[in-house]
Amino acid sequence: MKKKRKPNYKLRRTIAKIIIALLIIVPLVIIFKTKIINAPLYIKYHKNTEVLNALFDSKFTREEVKEFMPKLKEKGINSYTDDYIISLSNKGYKPSTIEYILLNFKMGDTKYLINTKYDEDVEKMIVNKLFDYSKYDRYINARSDDEDIDRTILRVTLDIDKDNYTDTVEIEDPNSLTTFINKHRYVNEDYVPDDLVDMSDDYANNYYGQLQLRSEAYEQFKKMVDDANKEDLEIYADTTYRSFKSQKSIYNNYVYENGYDKASLYAARAGFSEHELGTAIDISNGYLIEKGDPEYNWLMQYAYKYGFIFRYTEDNIDLTGYAAEPWHIRYVGVEVATKMHKENLTFEEYWIKYEYKKEAK
Ligand SMILES: [Zn+2]
Repeated sequence: MKKKRKPNYKLRRTIAKIIIALLIIVPLVIIFKTKIINAPLYIKYHKNTEVLNALFDSKFTREEVKEFMPKLKEKGINSYTDDYIISLSNKGYKPSTIEYILLNFKMGDTKYLINTKYDEDVEKMIVNKLFDYSKYDRYINARSDDEDIDRTILRVTLDIDKDNYTDTVEIEDPNSLTTFINKHRYVNEDYVPDDLVDMSDDYANNYYGQLQLRSEAYEQFKKMVDDANKEDLEIYADTTYRSFKSQKSIYNNYVYENGYDKASLYAARAGFSEHELGTAIDISNGYLIEKGDPEYNWLMQYAYKYGFIFRYTEDNIDLTGYAAEPWHIRYVGVEVATKMHKENLTFEEYWIKYEYKKEAK
């Protein structure tokens, strides 16, 4: 007779153990997958926006945030706790704006923002790279419904929102070919470029006095005029370098004849004119050239190849503060002129993009 087989308790116990273990492990994995165990991996493999979104959705507790704060720091998300994210989100800021704030704002400015009323326009402003808290009231004053907010910020950065010739600063390096001069930036009254050269009658109207240009600008101007002549176009310089003294008498005459407001639109106060830099030229074909003249059209197409740009156009009156002057060109060098041409930038836009340094706060 066969002996009755004893049940295999050992195997059953093992299976039971495995089932119990799975019952414990599976829920734990599900919990940890979205929680702290995965946080460092989550941070490593996700974009900053996604990480901040996760924080912002309060997937993690404050203690957890503390634990993986070093990882956040590696990603450039600095010194902030979920308090900031939650506060900003409660205010109404979008996750993408919160990310921008956390990555770009100083602690003080962020706190200030948290304590200020939410405003849709402010949200648009603060993600502009030029946004500067110290100019906040000026943005608000300069704002108008029919102007893009980025344009308002650009105008304020250029000080065009201020009254003419107020809060002026002296230009440190007037010899630079990309010196930016406007109604708030001037050259010292003693400044005279040290490389001015006399222009020949072939290129300049010297009838009212010998015209002068800075040497590099003159060399390039001659090349440009020679090439224009080959196209049967007559181009010559009518006005070039002006001394502080001559600019002063021109401006004063203008004010005397037309009144202050009109004068400011058409002429610059002494020290504030581009003609004092020795790189600006008023172009003539017998008369100062106008939009639509063949000489104007040719210059519009080719001047940048010789390093010249138009300065005062109809489209940028709000940025320059001057009426359009289709005859006024200025030398900035071939490289800069080409860059401006390629990127379709006015000089104000070029200067802000490549040379302007936001003041340290
Ligand atoms: Zn001019």
